Amino acid sequence: MGINENLVQMKSEIPAHVKLVAVSKTMPVNYLLEAYEAGQRIFGENKAQEIINKQPLLPADIEWHFIGHLQTNKVKYLAPFIGMIETVDSLKLLIEIDRQAVKLGRTINCLLEFHIAEEATKFGLDMADASEIIGSPEFRDLKNINICGVMGMATFTGDIEQIHREFSHLRQIFTHLKKEYFSNNIHFKEISMGMSGDYKLAIEEGSTMVRIGSAIFGERNY
Ligand SMILES: *Cc1c(COP(=O)(O)O)cnc(C)c1O
Repeated sequence: MGINENLVQMKSEIPAHVKLVAVSKTMPVNYLLEAYEAGQRIFGENKAQEIINKQPLLPADIEWHFIGHLQTNKVKYLAPFIGMIETVDSLKLLIEIDRQAVKLGRTINCLLEFHIAEEATKFGLDMADASEIIGSPEFRDLKNINICGVMGMATFTGDIEQIHREFSHLRQIFTHLKKEYFSNNIHFKEISMGMSGDYKLAIEEGSTMVRIGSAIFGERNY
C-alpha cells in the first residue's frame, strides 16, 4: 500500500481525540509531501540535523515534533520552528529551550520523557527525577515553555501484558503529575505513547498522541 492509503487506514483506526504524529525519520522529503497532501500535518523526527534540513523544504504549516535525544547545543537551531519537543529529560535542557524561546519571543511546547520500559536501554526520567525538576526554583522561573504532558516508549517485545503494564505506568505518572503540579494548567493534557507495533495497546491505556513511522511510510533502511 502507498502512504496515502496507509494514512487513511490509520486514521480510521485511531479515535478522533488521539493525535497522529507521522514519524518521518530517514524518509525522503517527497514521502513527507505525499503524507502532507493526504492531509497529514504533524511530523516527528529524531535527529536534529535531519529536521533542520527537512523543515525549510516543506510547507510552513507543518507542526514539527522532535522525538529523539536532544543535546542542549542543538536547541537554538530547532527553536525558531519546532512545534513540540517531546523528549525533555533534564532541567538543563528545559532551561536552554526556555532561553532560546525567550530570545525569539515565542513559547515552545514540551513533553517530559519518562523511562517506562522495563529494559534498561531507553532515555527518560523517573518520578523522582521529575519531582526534583518540577519542584526546583529554576523550573518556576521558566516563562516561555508549556509543559504539555508526558511521553514514553514501551519495551520492544511480543509480551502484550508487559506493554500494557508499561503504558499503564505512564498514564499513572501523567495522572499523578496532573494532580500534584498541573491541575490548573490547561496545556498539561497529552500522553504521547504508541508506535506502529503497539499503538492499539497504547490507545487502550489512554494515549492522546501516537507516533507512527513504518506503518505509514514503510520499513526504514538505515
Ligand atoms: C522511530 C520512532 C517512532 C516510530 O516508530 P515505528 O515503529 O516506525 O512506528 C516513534 N517514537 C520514537 C521516539 C521513534 O524514535
